[in-house]
Amino acid sequence: VAFHWIARYTHWLHTRWPAGTVERLPLVDEYGACSVPGVTVVGDLTGVPLLKFALQTGAAAAARIAGDPDFQKARTTPQQGVRDLIIVGGGVAGIAAAVEARRRSLDCLVIEANQPFSTVANFPARKPIYVYPADMRPDGRLQVTADVKEALLDELQRQRRDAGIEPLNARVTAIHRESDALRVDLAGGEPLRARRVIVAIGRSGEFRKLNVPGEELPKVYNRLHDPREGKRKNVLVVGGGDSALEAAIALAEAGAKVTLSYRKPEFSRAKSENVERLKALAVSASDSGSLALELQSRVVRIERETVVLRTADGAEKRIPNEMVYPMIGREAPLDFFRRNGIAVAGEWRPATIASLALFLLFCVWLYHWKSDYSIPLGLKDTFNRFLGLDPSAFWNGVRSAGGAVGTYFNNPATLGGTIAISASGRSFYYTLAYCLCVLIFGIRRIRRRKTPYVTRQTVTLTLIQWIPLFLLPEILLPWMGHNGLFDSGFGGWIADQFFPAVDYGHGREYWRAYGFILAWPLMVWNWFTDQPLWGWLILGFIQTCVLIPLMIRRWGKGAYCGWICSCGALAETMGDTHRHKMPHGPVWNRLNMIGQVFLLWALVILLIRVLGWIFPNTLFPAAVRALLNGIPILNYGYVVDLIFGGILGVGLYFHFSGRVWCRFACPLAALMHIYARFTRFRIFADKKKCISCNVCTSVCHQGIDVMNFANKGEPMQDPQCVRCSACVQSCPTGVLTFGRYDAAGNPRYDPLPASRVQSTEQKTH
Ligand SMILES: Cc1cc2nc3c(=O)[nH]c(=O)nc-3n(C[C@H](O)[C@H](O)[C@H](O)COP(=O)(O)OP(=O)(O)OC[C@H]3O[C@@H](n4cnc5c(N)ncnc54)[C@H](O)[C@@H]3O)c2cc1C
Ligand code: SF4
Ligand code: SF4
Repeated sequence: VAFHWIARYTHWLHTRWPAGTVERLPLVDEYGACSVPGVTVVGDLTGVPLLKFALQTGAAAAARIAGDPDFQKARTTPQQGVRDLIIVGGGVAGIAAAVEARRRSLDCLVIEANQPFSTVANFPARKPIYVYPADMRPDGRLQVTADVKEALLDELQRQRRDAGIEPLNARVTAIHRESDALRVDLAGGEPLRARRVIVAIGRSGEFRKLNVPGEELPKVYNRLHDPREGKRKNVLVVGGGDSALEAAIALAEAGAKVTLSYRKPEFSRAKSENVERLKALAVSASDSGSLALELQSRVVRIERETVVLRTADGAEKRIPNEMVYPMIGREAPLDFFRRNGIAVAGEWRPATIASLALFLLFCVWLYHWKSDYSIPLGLKDTFNRFLGLDPSAFWNGVRSAGGAVGTYFNNPATLGGTIAISASGRSFYYTLAYCLCVLIFGIRRIRRRKTPYVTRQTVTLTLIQWIPLFLLPEILLPWMGHNGLFDSGFGGWIADQFFPAVDYGHGREYWRAYGFILAWPLMVWNWFTDQPLWGWLILGFIQTCVLIPLMIRRWGKGAYCGWICSCGALAETMGDTHRHKMPHGPVWNRLNMIGQVFLLWALVILLIRVLGWIFPNTLFPAAVRALLNGIPILNYGYVVDLIFGGILGVGLYFHFSGRVWCRFACPLAALMHIYARFTRFRIFADKKKCISCNVCTSVCHQGIDVMNFANKGEPMQDPQCVRCSACVQSCPTGVLTFGRYDAAGNPRYDPLPASRVQSTEQKTH
């Protein structure tokens, strides 16, 4: 029974949301640079399968190479047989790169395995072309305007010829880094050399297979050349993406009797125009051509004159058939990249594992070194012996140095004297380094993302990190205390409620001021004190049970996680370029429940703590101490704060993204997930513009499958969202918008622009 209720709760909170995974592509940075120096990847393989993005990435890569000072320097010493640039692939991106390279006077060669623009040449005859985003003008001279395949191919070929680009017809098998150049191996030809290589081979990998008997029959085709070939024939098209829908429509319009088989109950990946045309055709069958939809069906086998489908009701259905078009996509040509030592996103190599192990070890040292918890197994002593780096010894030396310097630092009422006491503790340096990381990587994030939303969010996070989460507890409050502001009167009374007196350090526990920002149960230490600290209990109750729920109701959980919290500050700045490393999928979504376990643990301790205050002469007070920090290893402080919050939270940053702690383990986030089930915040989607490219899902470092909301036009409401804006900002067609439902249930969009595409569109109109 308990298991049943846990499963229902898990479903209500986390597993009910879409949980698609992310397609593997070569690991590239925002400029297409990959793990092999000198090689740039462009076009479809950078993530967005659209003509305009292929043009943009191709031209931009050539321009970047031409402007690279190292490249310019290398060109000054000409080498026999070494070109400036080799472009592998003469598709849209490759030719765009070549046109730009030629314009910049680079000595460049395009190598194409088939024919120039072979992907476009293989589009079905008279296929309509959608040139999204309408307002985007790609960099470079090669441009597209046509709205049908034949005209598109004509205009591309004309521009190529005008630019004097004639590709070498050969297949590239490998790229090797040599001491002074890159060597490009050709199938059955002499290798060629260049200073730089652009890889523009598109998604021209293997067609995905149905893996059913009969797939090898000659009537099975992966490409539709001319729909008229299907006239008056019984044709089966398999798939639910744009290629499948466009093929089915074209065949039916050309007079074929089409059956479209798709395994899902609705077409969520295809463009809405295609879905509408398909549905219109499905109800208007004529004698010549017709279209029947078999949703939630699978192909069981293909026979010479029939095919057998398993339909939605589980029964087998045999239908007459003369042609089959399995159009279920292609695998990206990942083997090409693996063979050439180019890292593929999400794939682990020995060096990746080694770097993770080393960084985790560093974090084990760092968090044991700076922590004041009782550390089990004598680890603290061990770490103190090796790399103890005790700053108090240094500051004791400064204070006892005598003279003006010694006197200044020995007087806690001076700023230097206050800092000398704070800086004698190790956590001071950790917090300072943390603040510096937020500042430095924050500036880089603002420069990289260039949206008003990101700028304002990053500035807010940085200010909160520096002022209430560093300067206030470490310097300002202690300095005020040493100058007598908390000795008596109202100041003294307030200080007694928040910072109890102690006989070490600054004489009061000013570190508790972190609780002004870090609410319970993210920071539990202000609530679980031996005697109740009423200041914190009242303030903490208002934070956790009033302010945060109200904020979440209006702006979602991200109002705290994305705009206030220090864990969020580091994740959004230092973690900005690691977002895509967060794993996606149903199994990972179940792990979201770890935070619920920690939340329950904190609630149990809270209950015992309250009982301990009411009944002080019982076992409750000792039980709280044991649970918090007493039981070796399995105490709350060590497991939740040190291992999950510190070692794993930061240690997994560069391999699993910066939000591992926030997504899976943070007990405050776990509480906020419950609040967030009642939020009015949504990410609204303009379904018509969605091209199902999956970019939004791939950049979500909370593991949310944003695309599966967007391409159905459903507002995103997964409680994990931290409002980082990466999905909104990265969406190539400007589909997504932050907003909320008002009291009357109408969408209200956020006024702060977070999508560059939308901002450009508004300026152009
Ligand atoms: C059926 C279909 C319909 C589409 N409809 C649209 C649309 O309406 N609107 C839109 O914007 N986009 C559309 N697209 C997407 C668009 O075609 C791609 O975004 C664009 O072609 C990508 O350009 P690319 O240069 O990256 O790759 P490609 O155009 O695929 O070019 C890659 C080239 O590399 C060559 N090559 C591969 N391996 C090697 C090798 N080892 N050595 C040498 N050469 C090699 C290939 O022969 C190919 O010519 C469609 C795509 C398909 C498949
Ligand atoms: S804003 Fe988008 S990318 Fe960021 S957490 Fe929310 S859904 Fe994910
Ligand atoms: S909403 Fe997502 S899937 Fe749709 S176009 Fe934008 S990034 Fe691609």
